[in-house]
Amino acid sequence: MPADANRVIANLRELATLTGDANGAQRIAFTPTWQRARDWFAGKLGELPVRQHRDAAGNSWITLPGASPKSLVLGSHLDSVPNGGWLDGALGVMTALEVLCSIARDNDGRPPFTIRVVDWTDEEGARFGRSLFGSSAFAGTHSIAADRVRSDREGITLESALAQCGIEIDRIGEAARERENIAAYLELHIEQGPVLERLGLPLGAVLGTKGVERHAITFHGQEAHSGSTPMGDRRDALAAAARLALEIRSIATRHSDSVCTMGSVKTFPGIVTAVVGRCEATLDQRDLDATILATMYREAQEASRRFAEEERCAVEWSRIWSIEPIPFHPELITLCREAIAETLGAPAYSLPSGPLHDAAEVARLGIPTTMMFVQSLGGISHNRIEDTREEHLRNAVAAFDRLTTKTMGWMKSQ
Ligand SMILES: [Zn+2]
Repeated sequence: MPADANRVIANLRELATLTGDANGAQRIAFTPTWQRARDWFAGKLGELPVRQHRDAAGNSWITLPGASPKSLVLGSHLDSVPNGGWLDGALGVMTALEVLCSIARDNDGRPPFTIRVVDWTDEEGARFGRSLFGSSAFAGTHSIAADRVRSDREGITLESALAQCGIEIDRIGEAARERENIAAYLELHIEQGPVLERLGLPLGAVLGTKGVERHAITFHGQEAHSGSTPMGDRRDALAAAARLALEIRSIATRHSDSVCTMGSVKTFPGIVTAVVGRCEATLDQRDLDATILATMYREAQEASRRFAEEERCAVEWSRIWSIEPIPFHPELITLCREAIAETLGAPAYSLPSGPLHDAAEVARLGIPTTMMFVQSLGGISHNRIEDTREEHLRNAVAAFDRLTTKTMGWMKSQ
């Protein structure tokens, strides 16, 4: 029997009522509301022949043992940003559970492979600014030393918030034990962007997550009086930054899926009567192709030096953060395309993910991984108006169910 989309949607609505308010979802990781969501989820397991446990990083695992210990993992996250949407993360977890139920039913409780559902801890990083907490602990990419002293707005440190949830910060690396026997990982998620809607498509196969180059750029000019300094004598740091802000748009549009964003610009002294002496800007560049990403980074640097020179300023760059593009598994992407095409009766579309996801942490370990996206209305997410048409949610559950079946078939051949 196929997975029941009605039950997924009813569960999502129930969770939204239980853990949201007029402003949206409030399942911020390590808060009582998040704990309530997880307890509610545990209550949904009912009579299923599964084991449940939390790993050392608080990731919640449900295991349906199969004839083989080789496992297929389905997952996403129950945590949300403050005033978040009802589908981000929760759709993936609730669909994963429903698919597990249907596999248990179809195989009299004992499928050929072990099926696991994971709810990753703190995907959003909304409270402490560190995204993908649980999945990076699982992947061994988490640097505790730098993160333990991070604090929230009330001054509570990450270390103590974790302790309140029974997670010992020095032991989170032990979550790596969960990797044993995992043969594949699948995640269903809302797109959180406008691409599928613009194309009129309910679903897309995800090629991987884009790499990110994130930098701070400072232009140094000369503060001067706005009344007495003739235009030709100015060394205006904002003018150089403004030219770069426009140039990054043409740098990005030379490549089909690239994005470049100058998200923050600060001027000093920042008063109405002074030419800007110093301008601090940020740049965030993303692409799925590492060569394109490197080219865009170089082009932005060259442009910044050219504009600095023409405005008689100096420029310096410092890297804030970067991550390489993480492509998903080609054979699983093909299965995902097939599942979508068979569900919709139309050719499937593939797209890269701009946002990072827990799936990226799993994929970088070399575990065969892919994701499926379902259309987001208006491309809006991380907001209470986040939504997806009910017929598209039904398509998503059906196609993800198919993808799971296909992946188990693929695992047999491995
Ligand atoms: Zn999410």
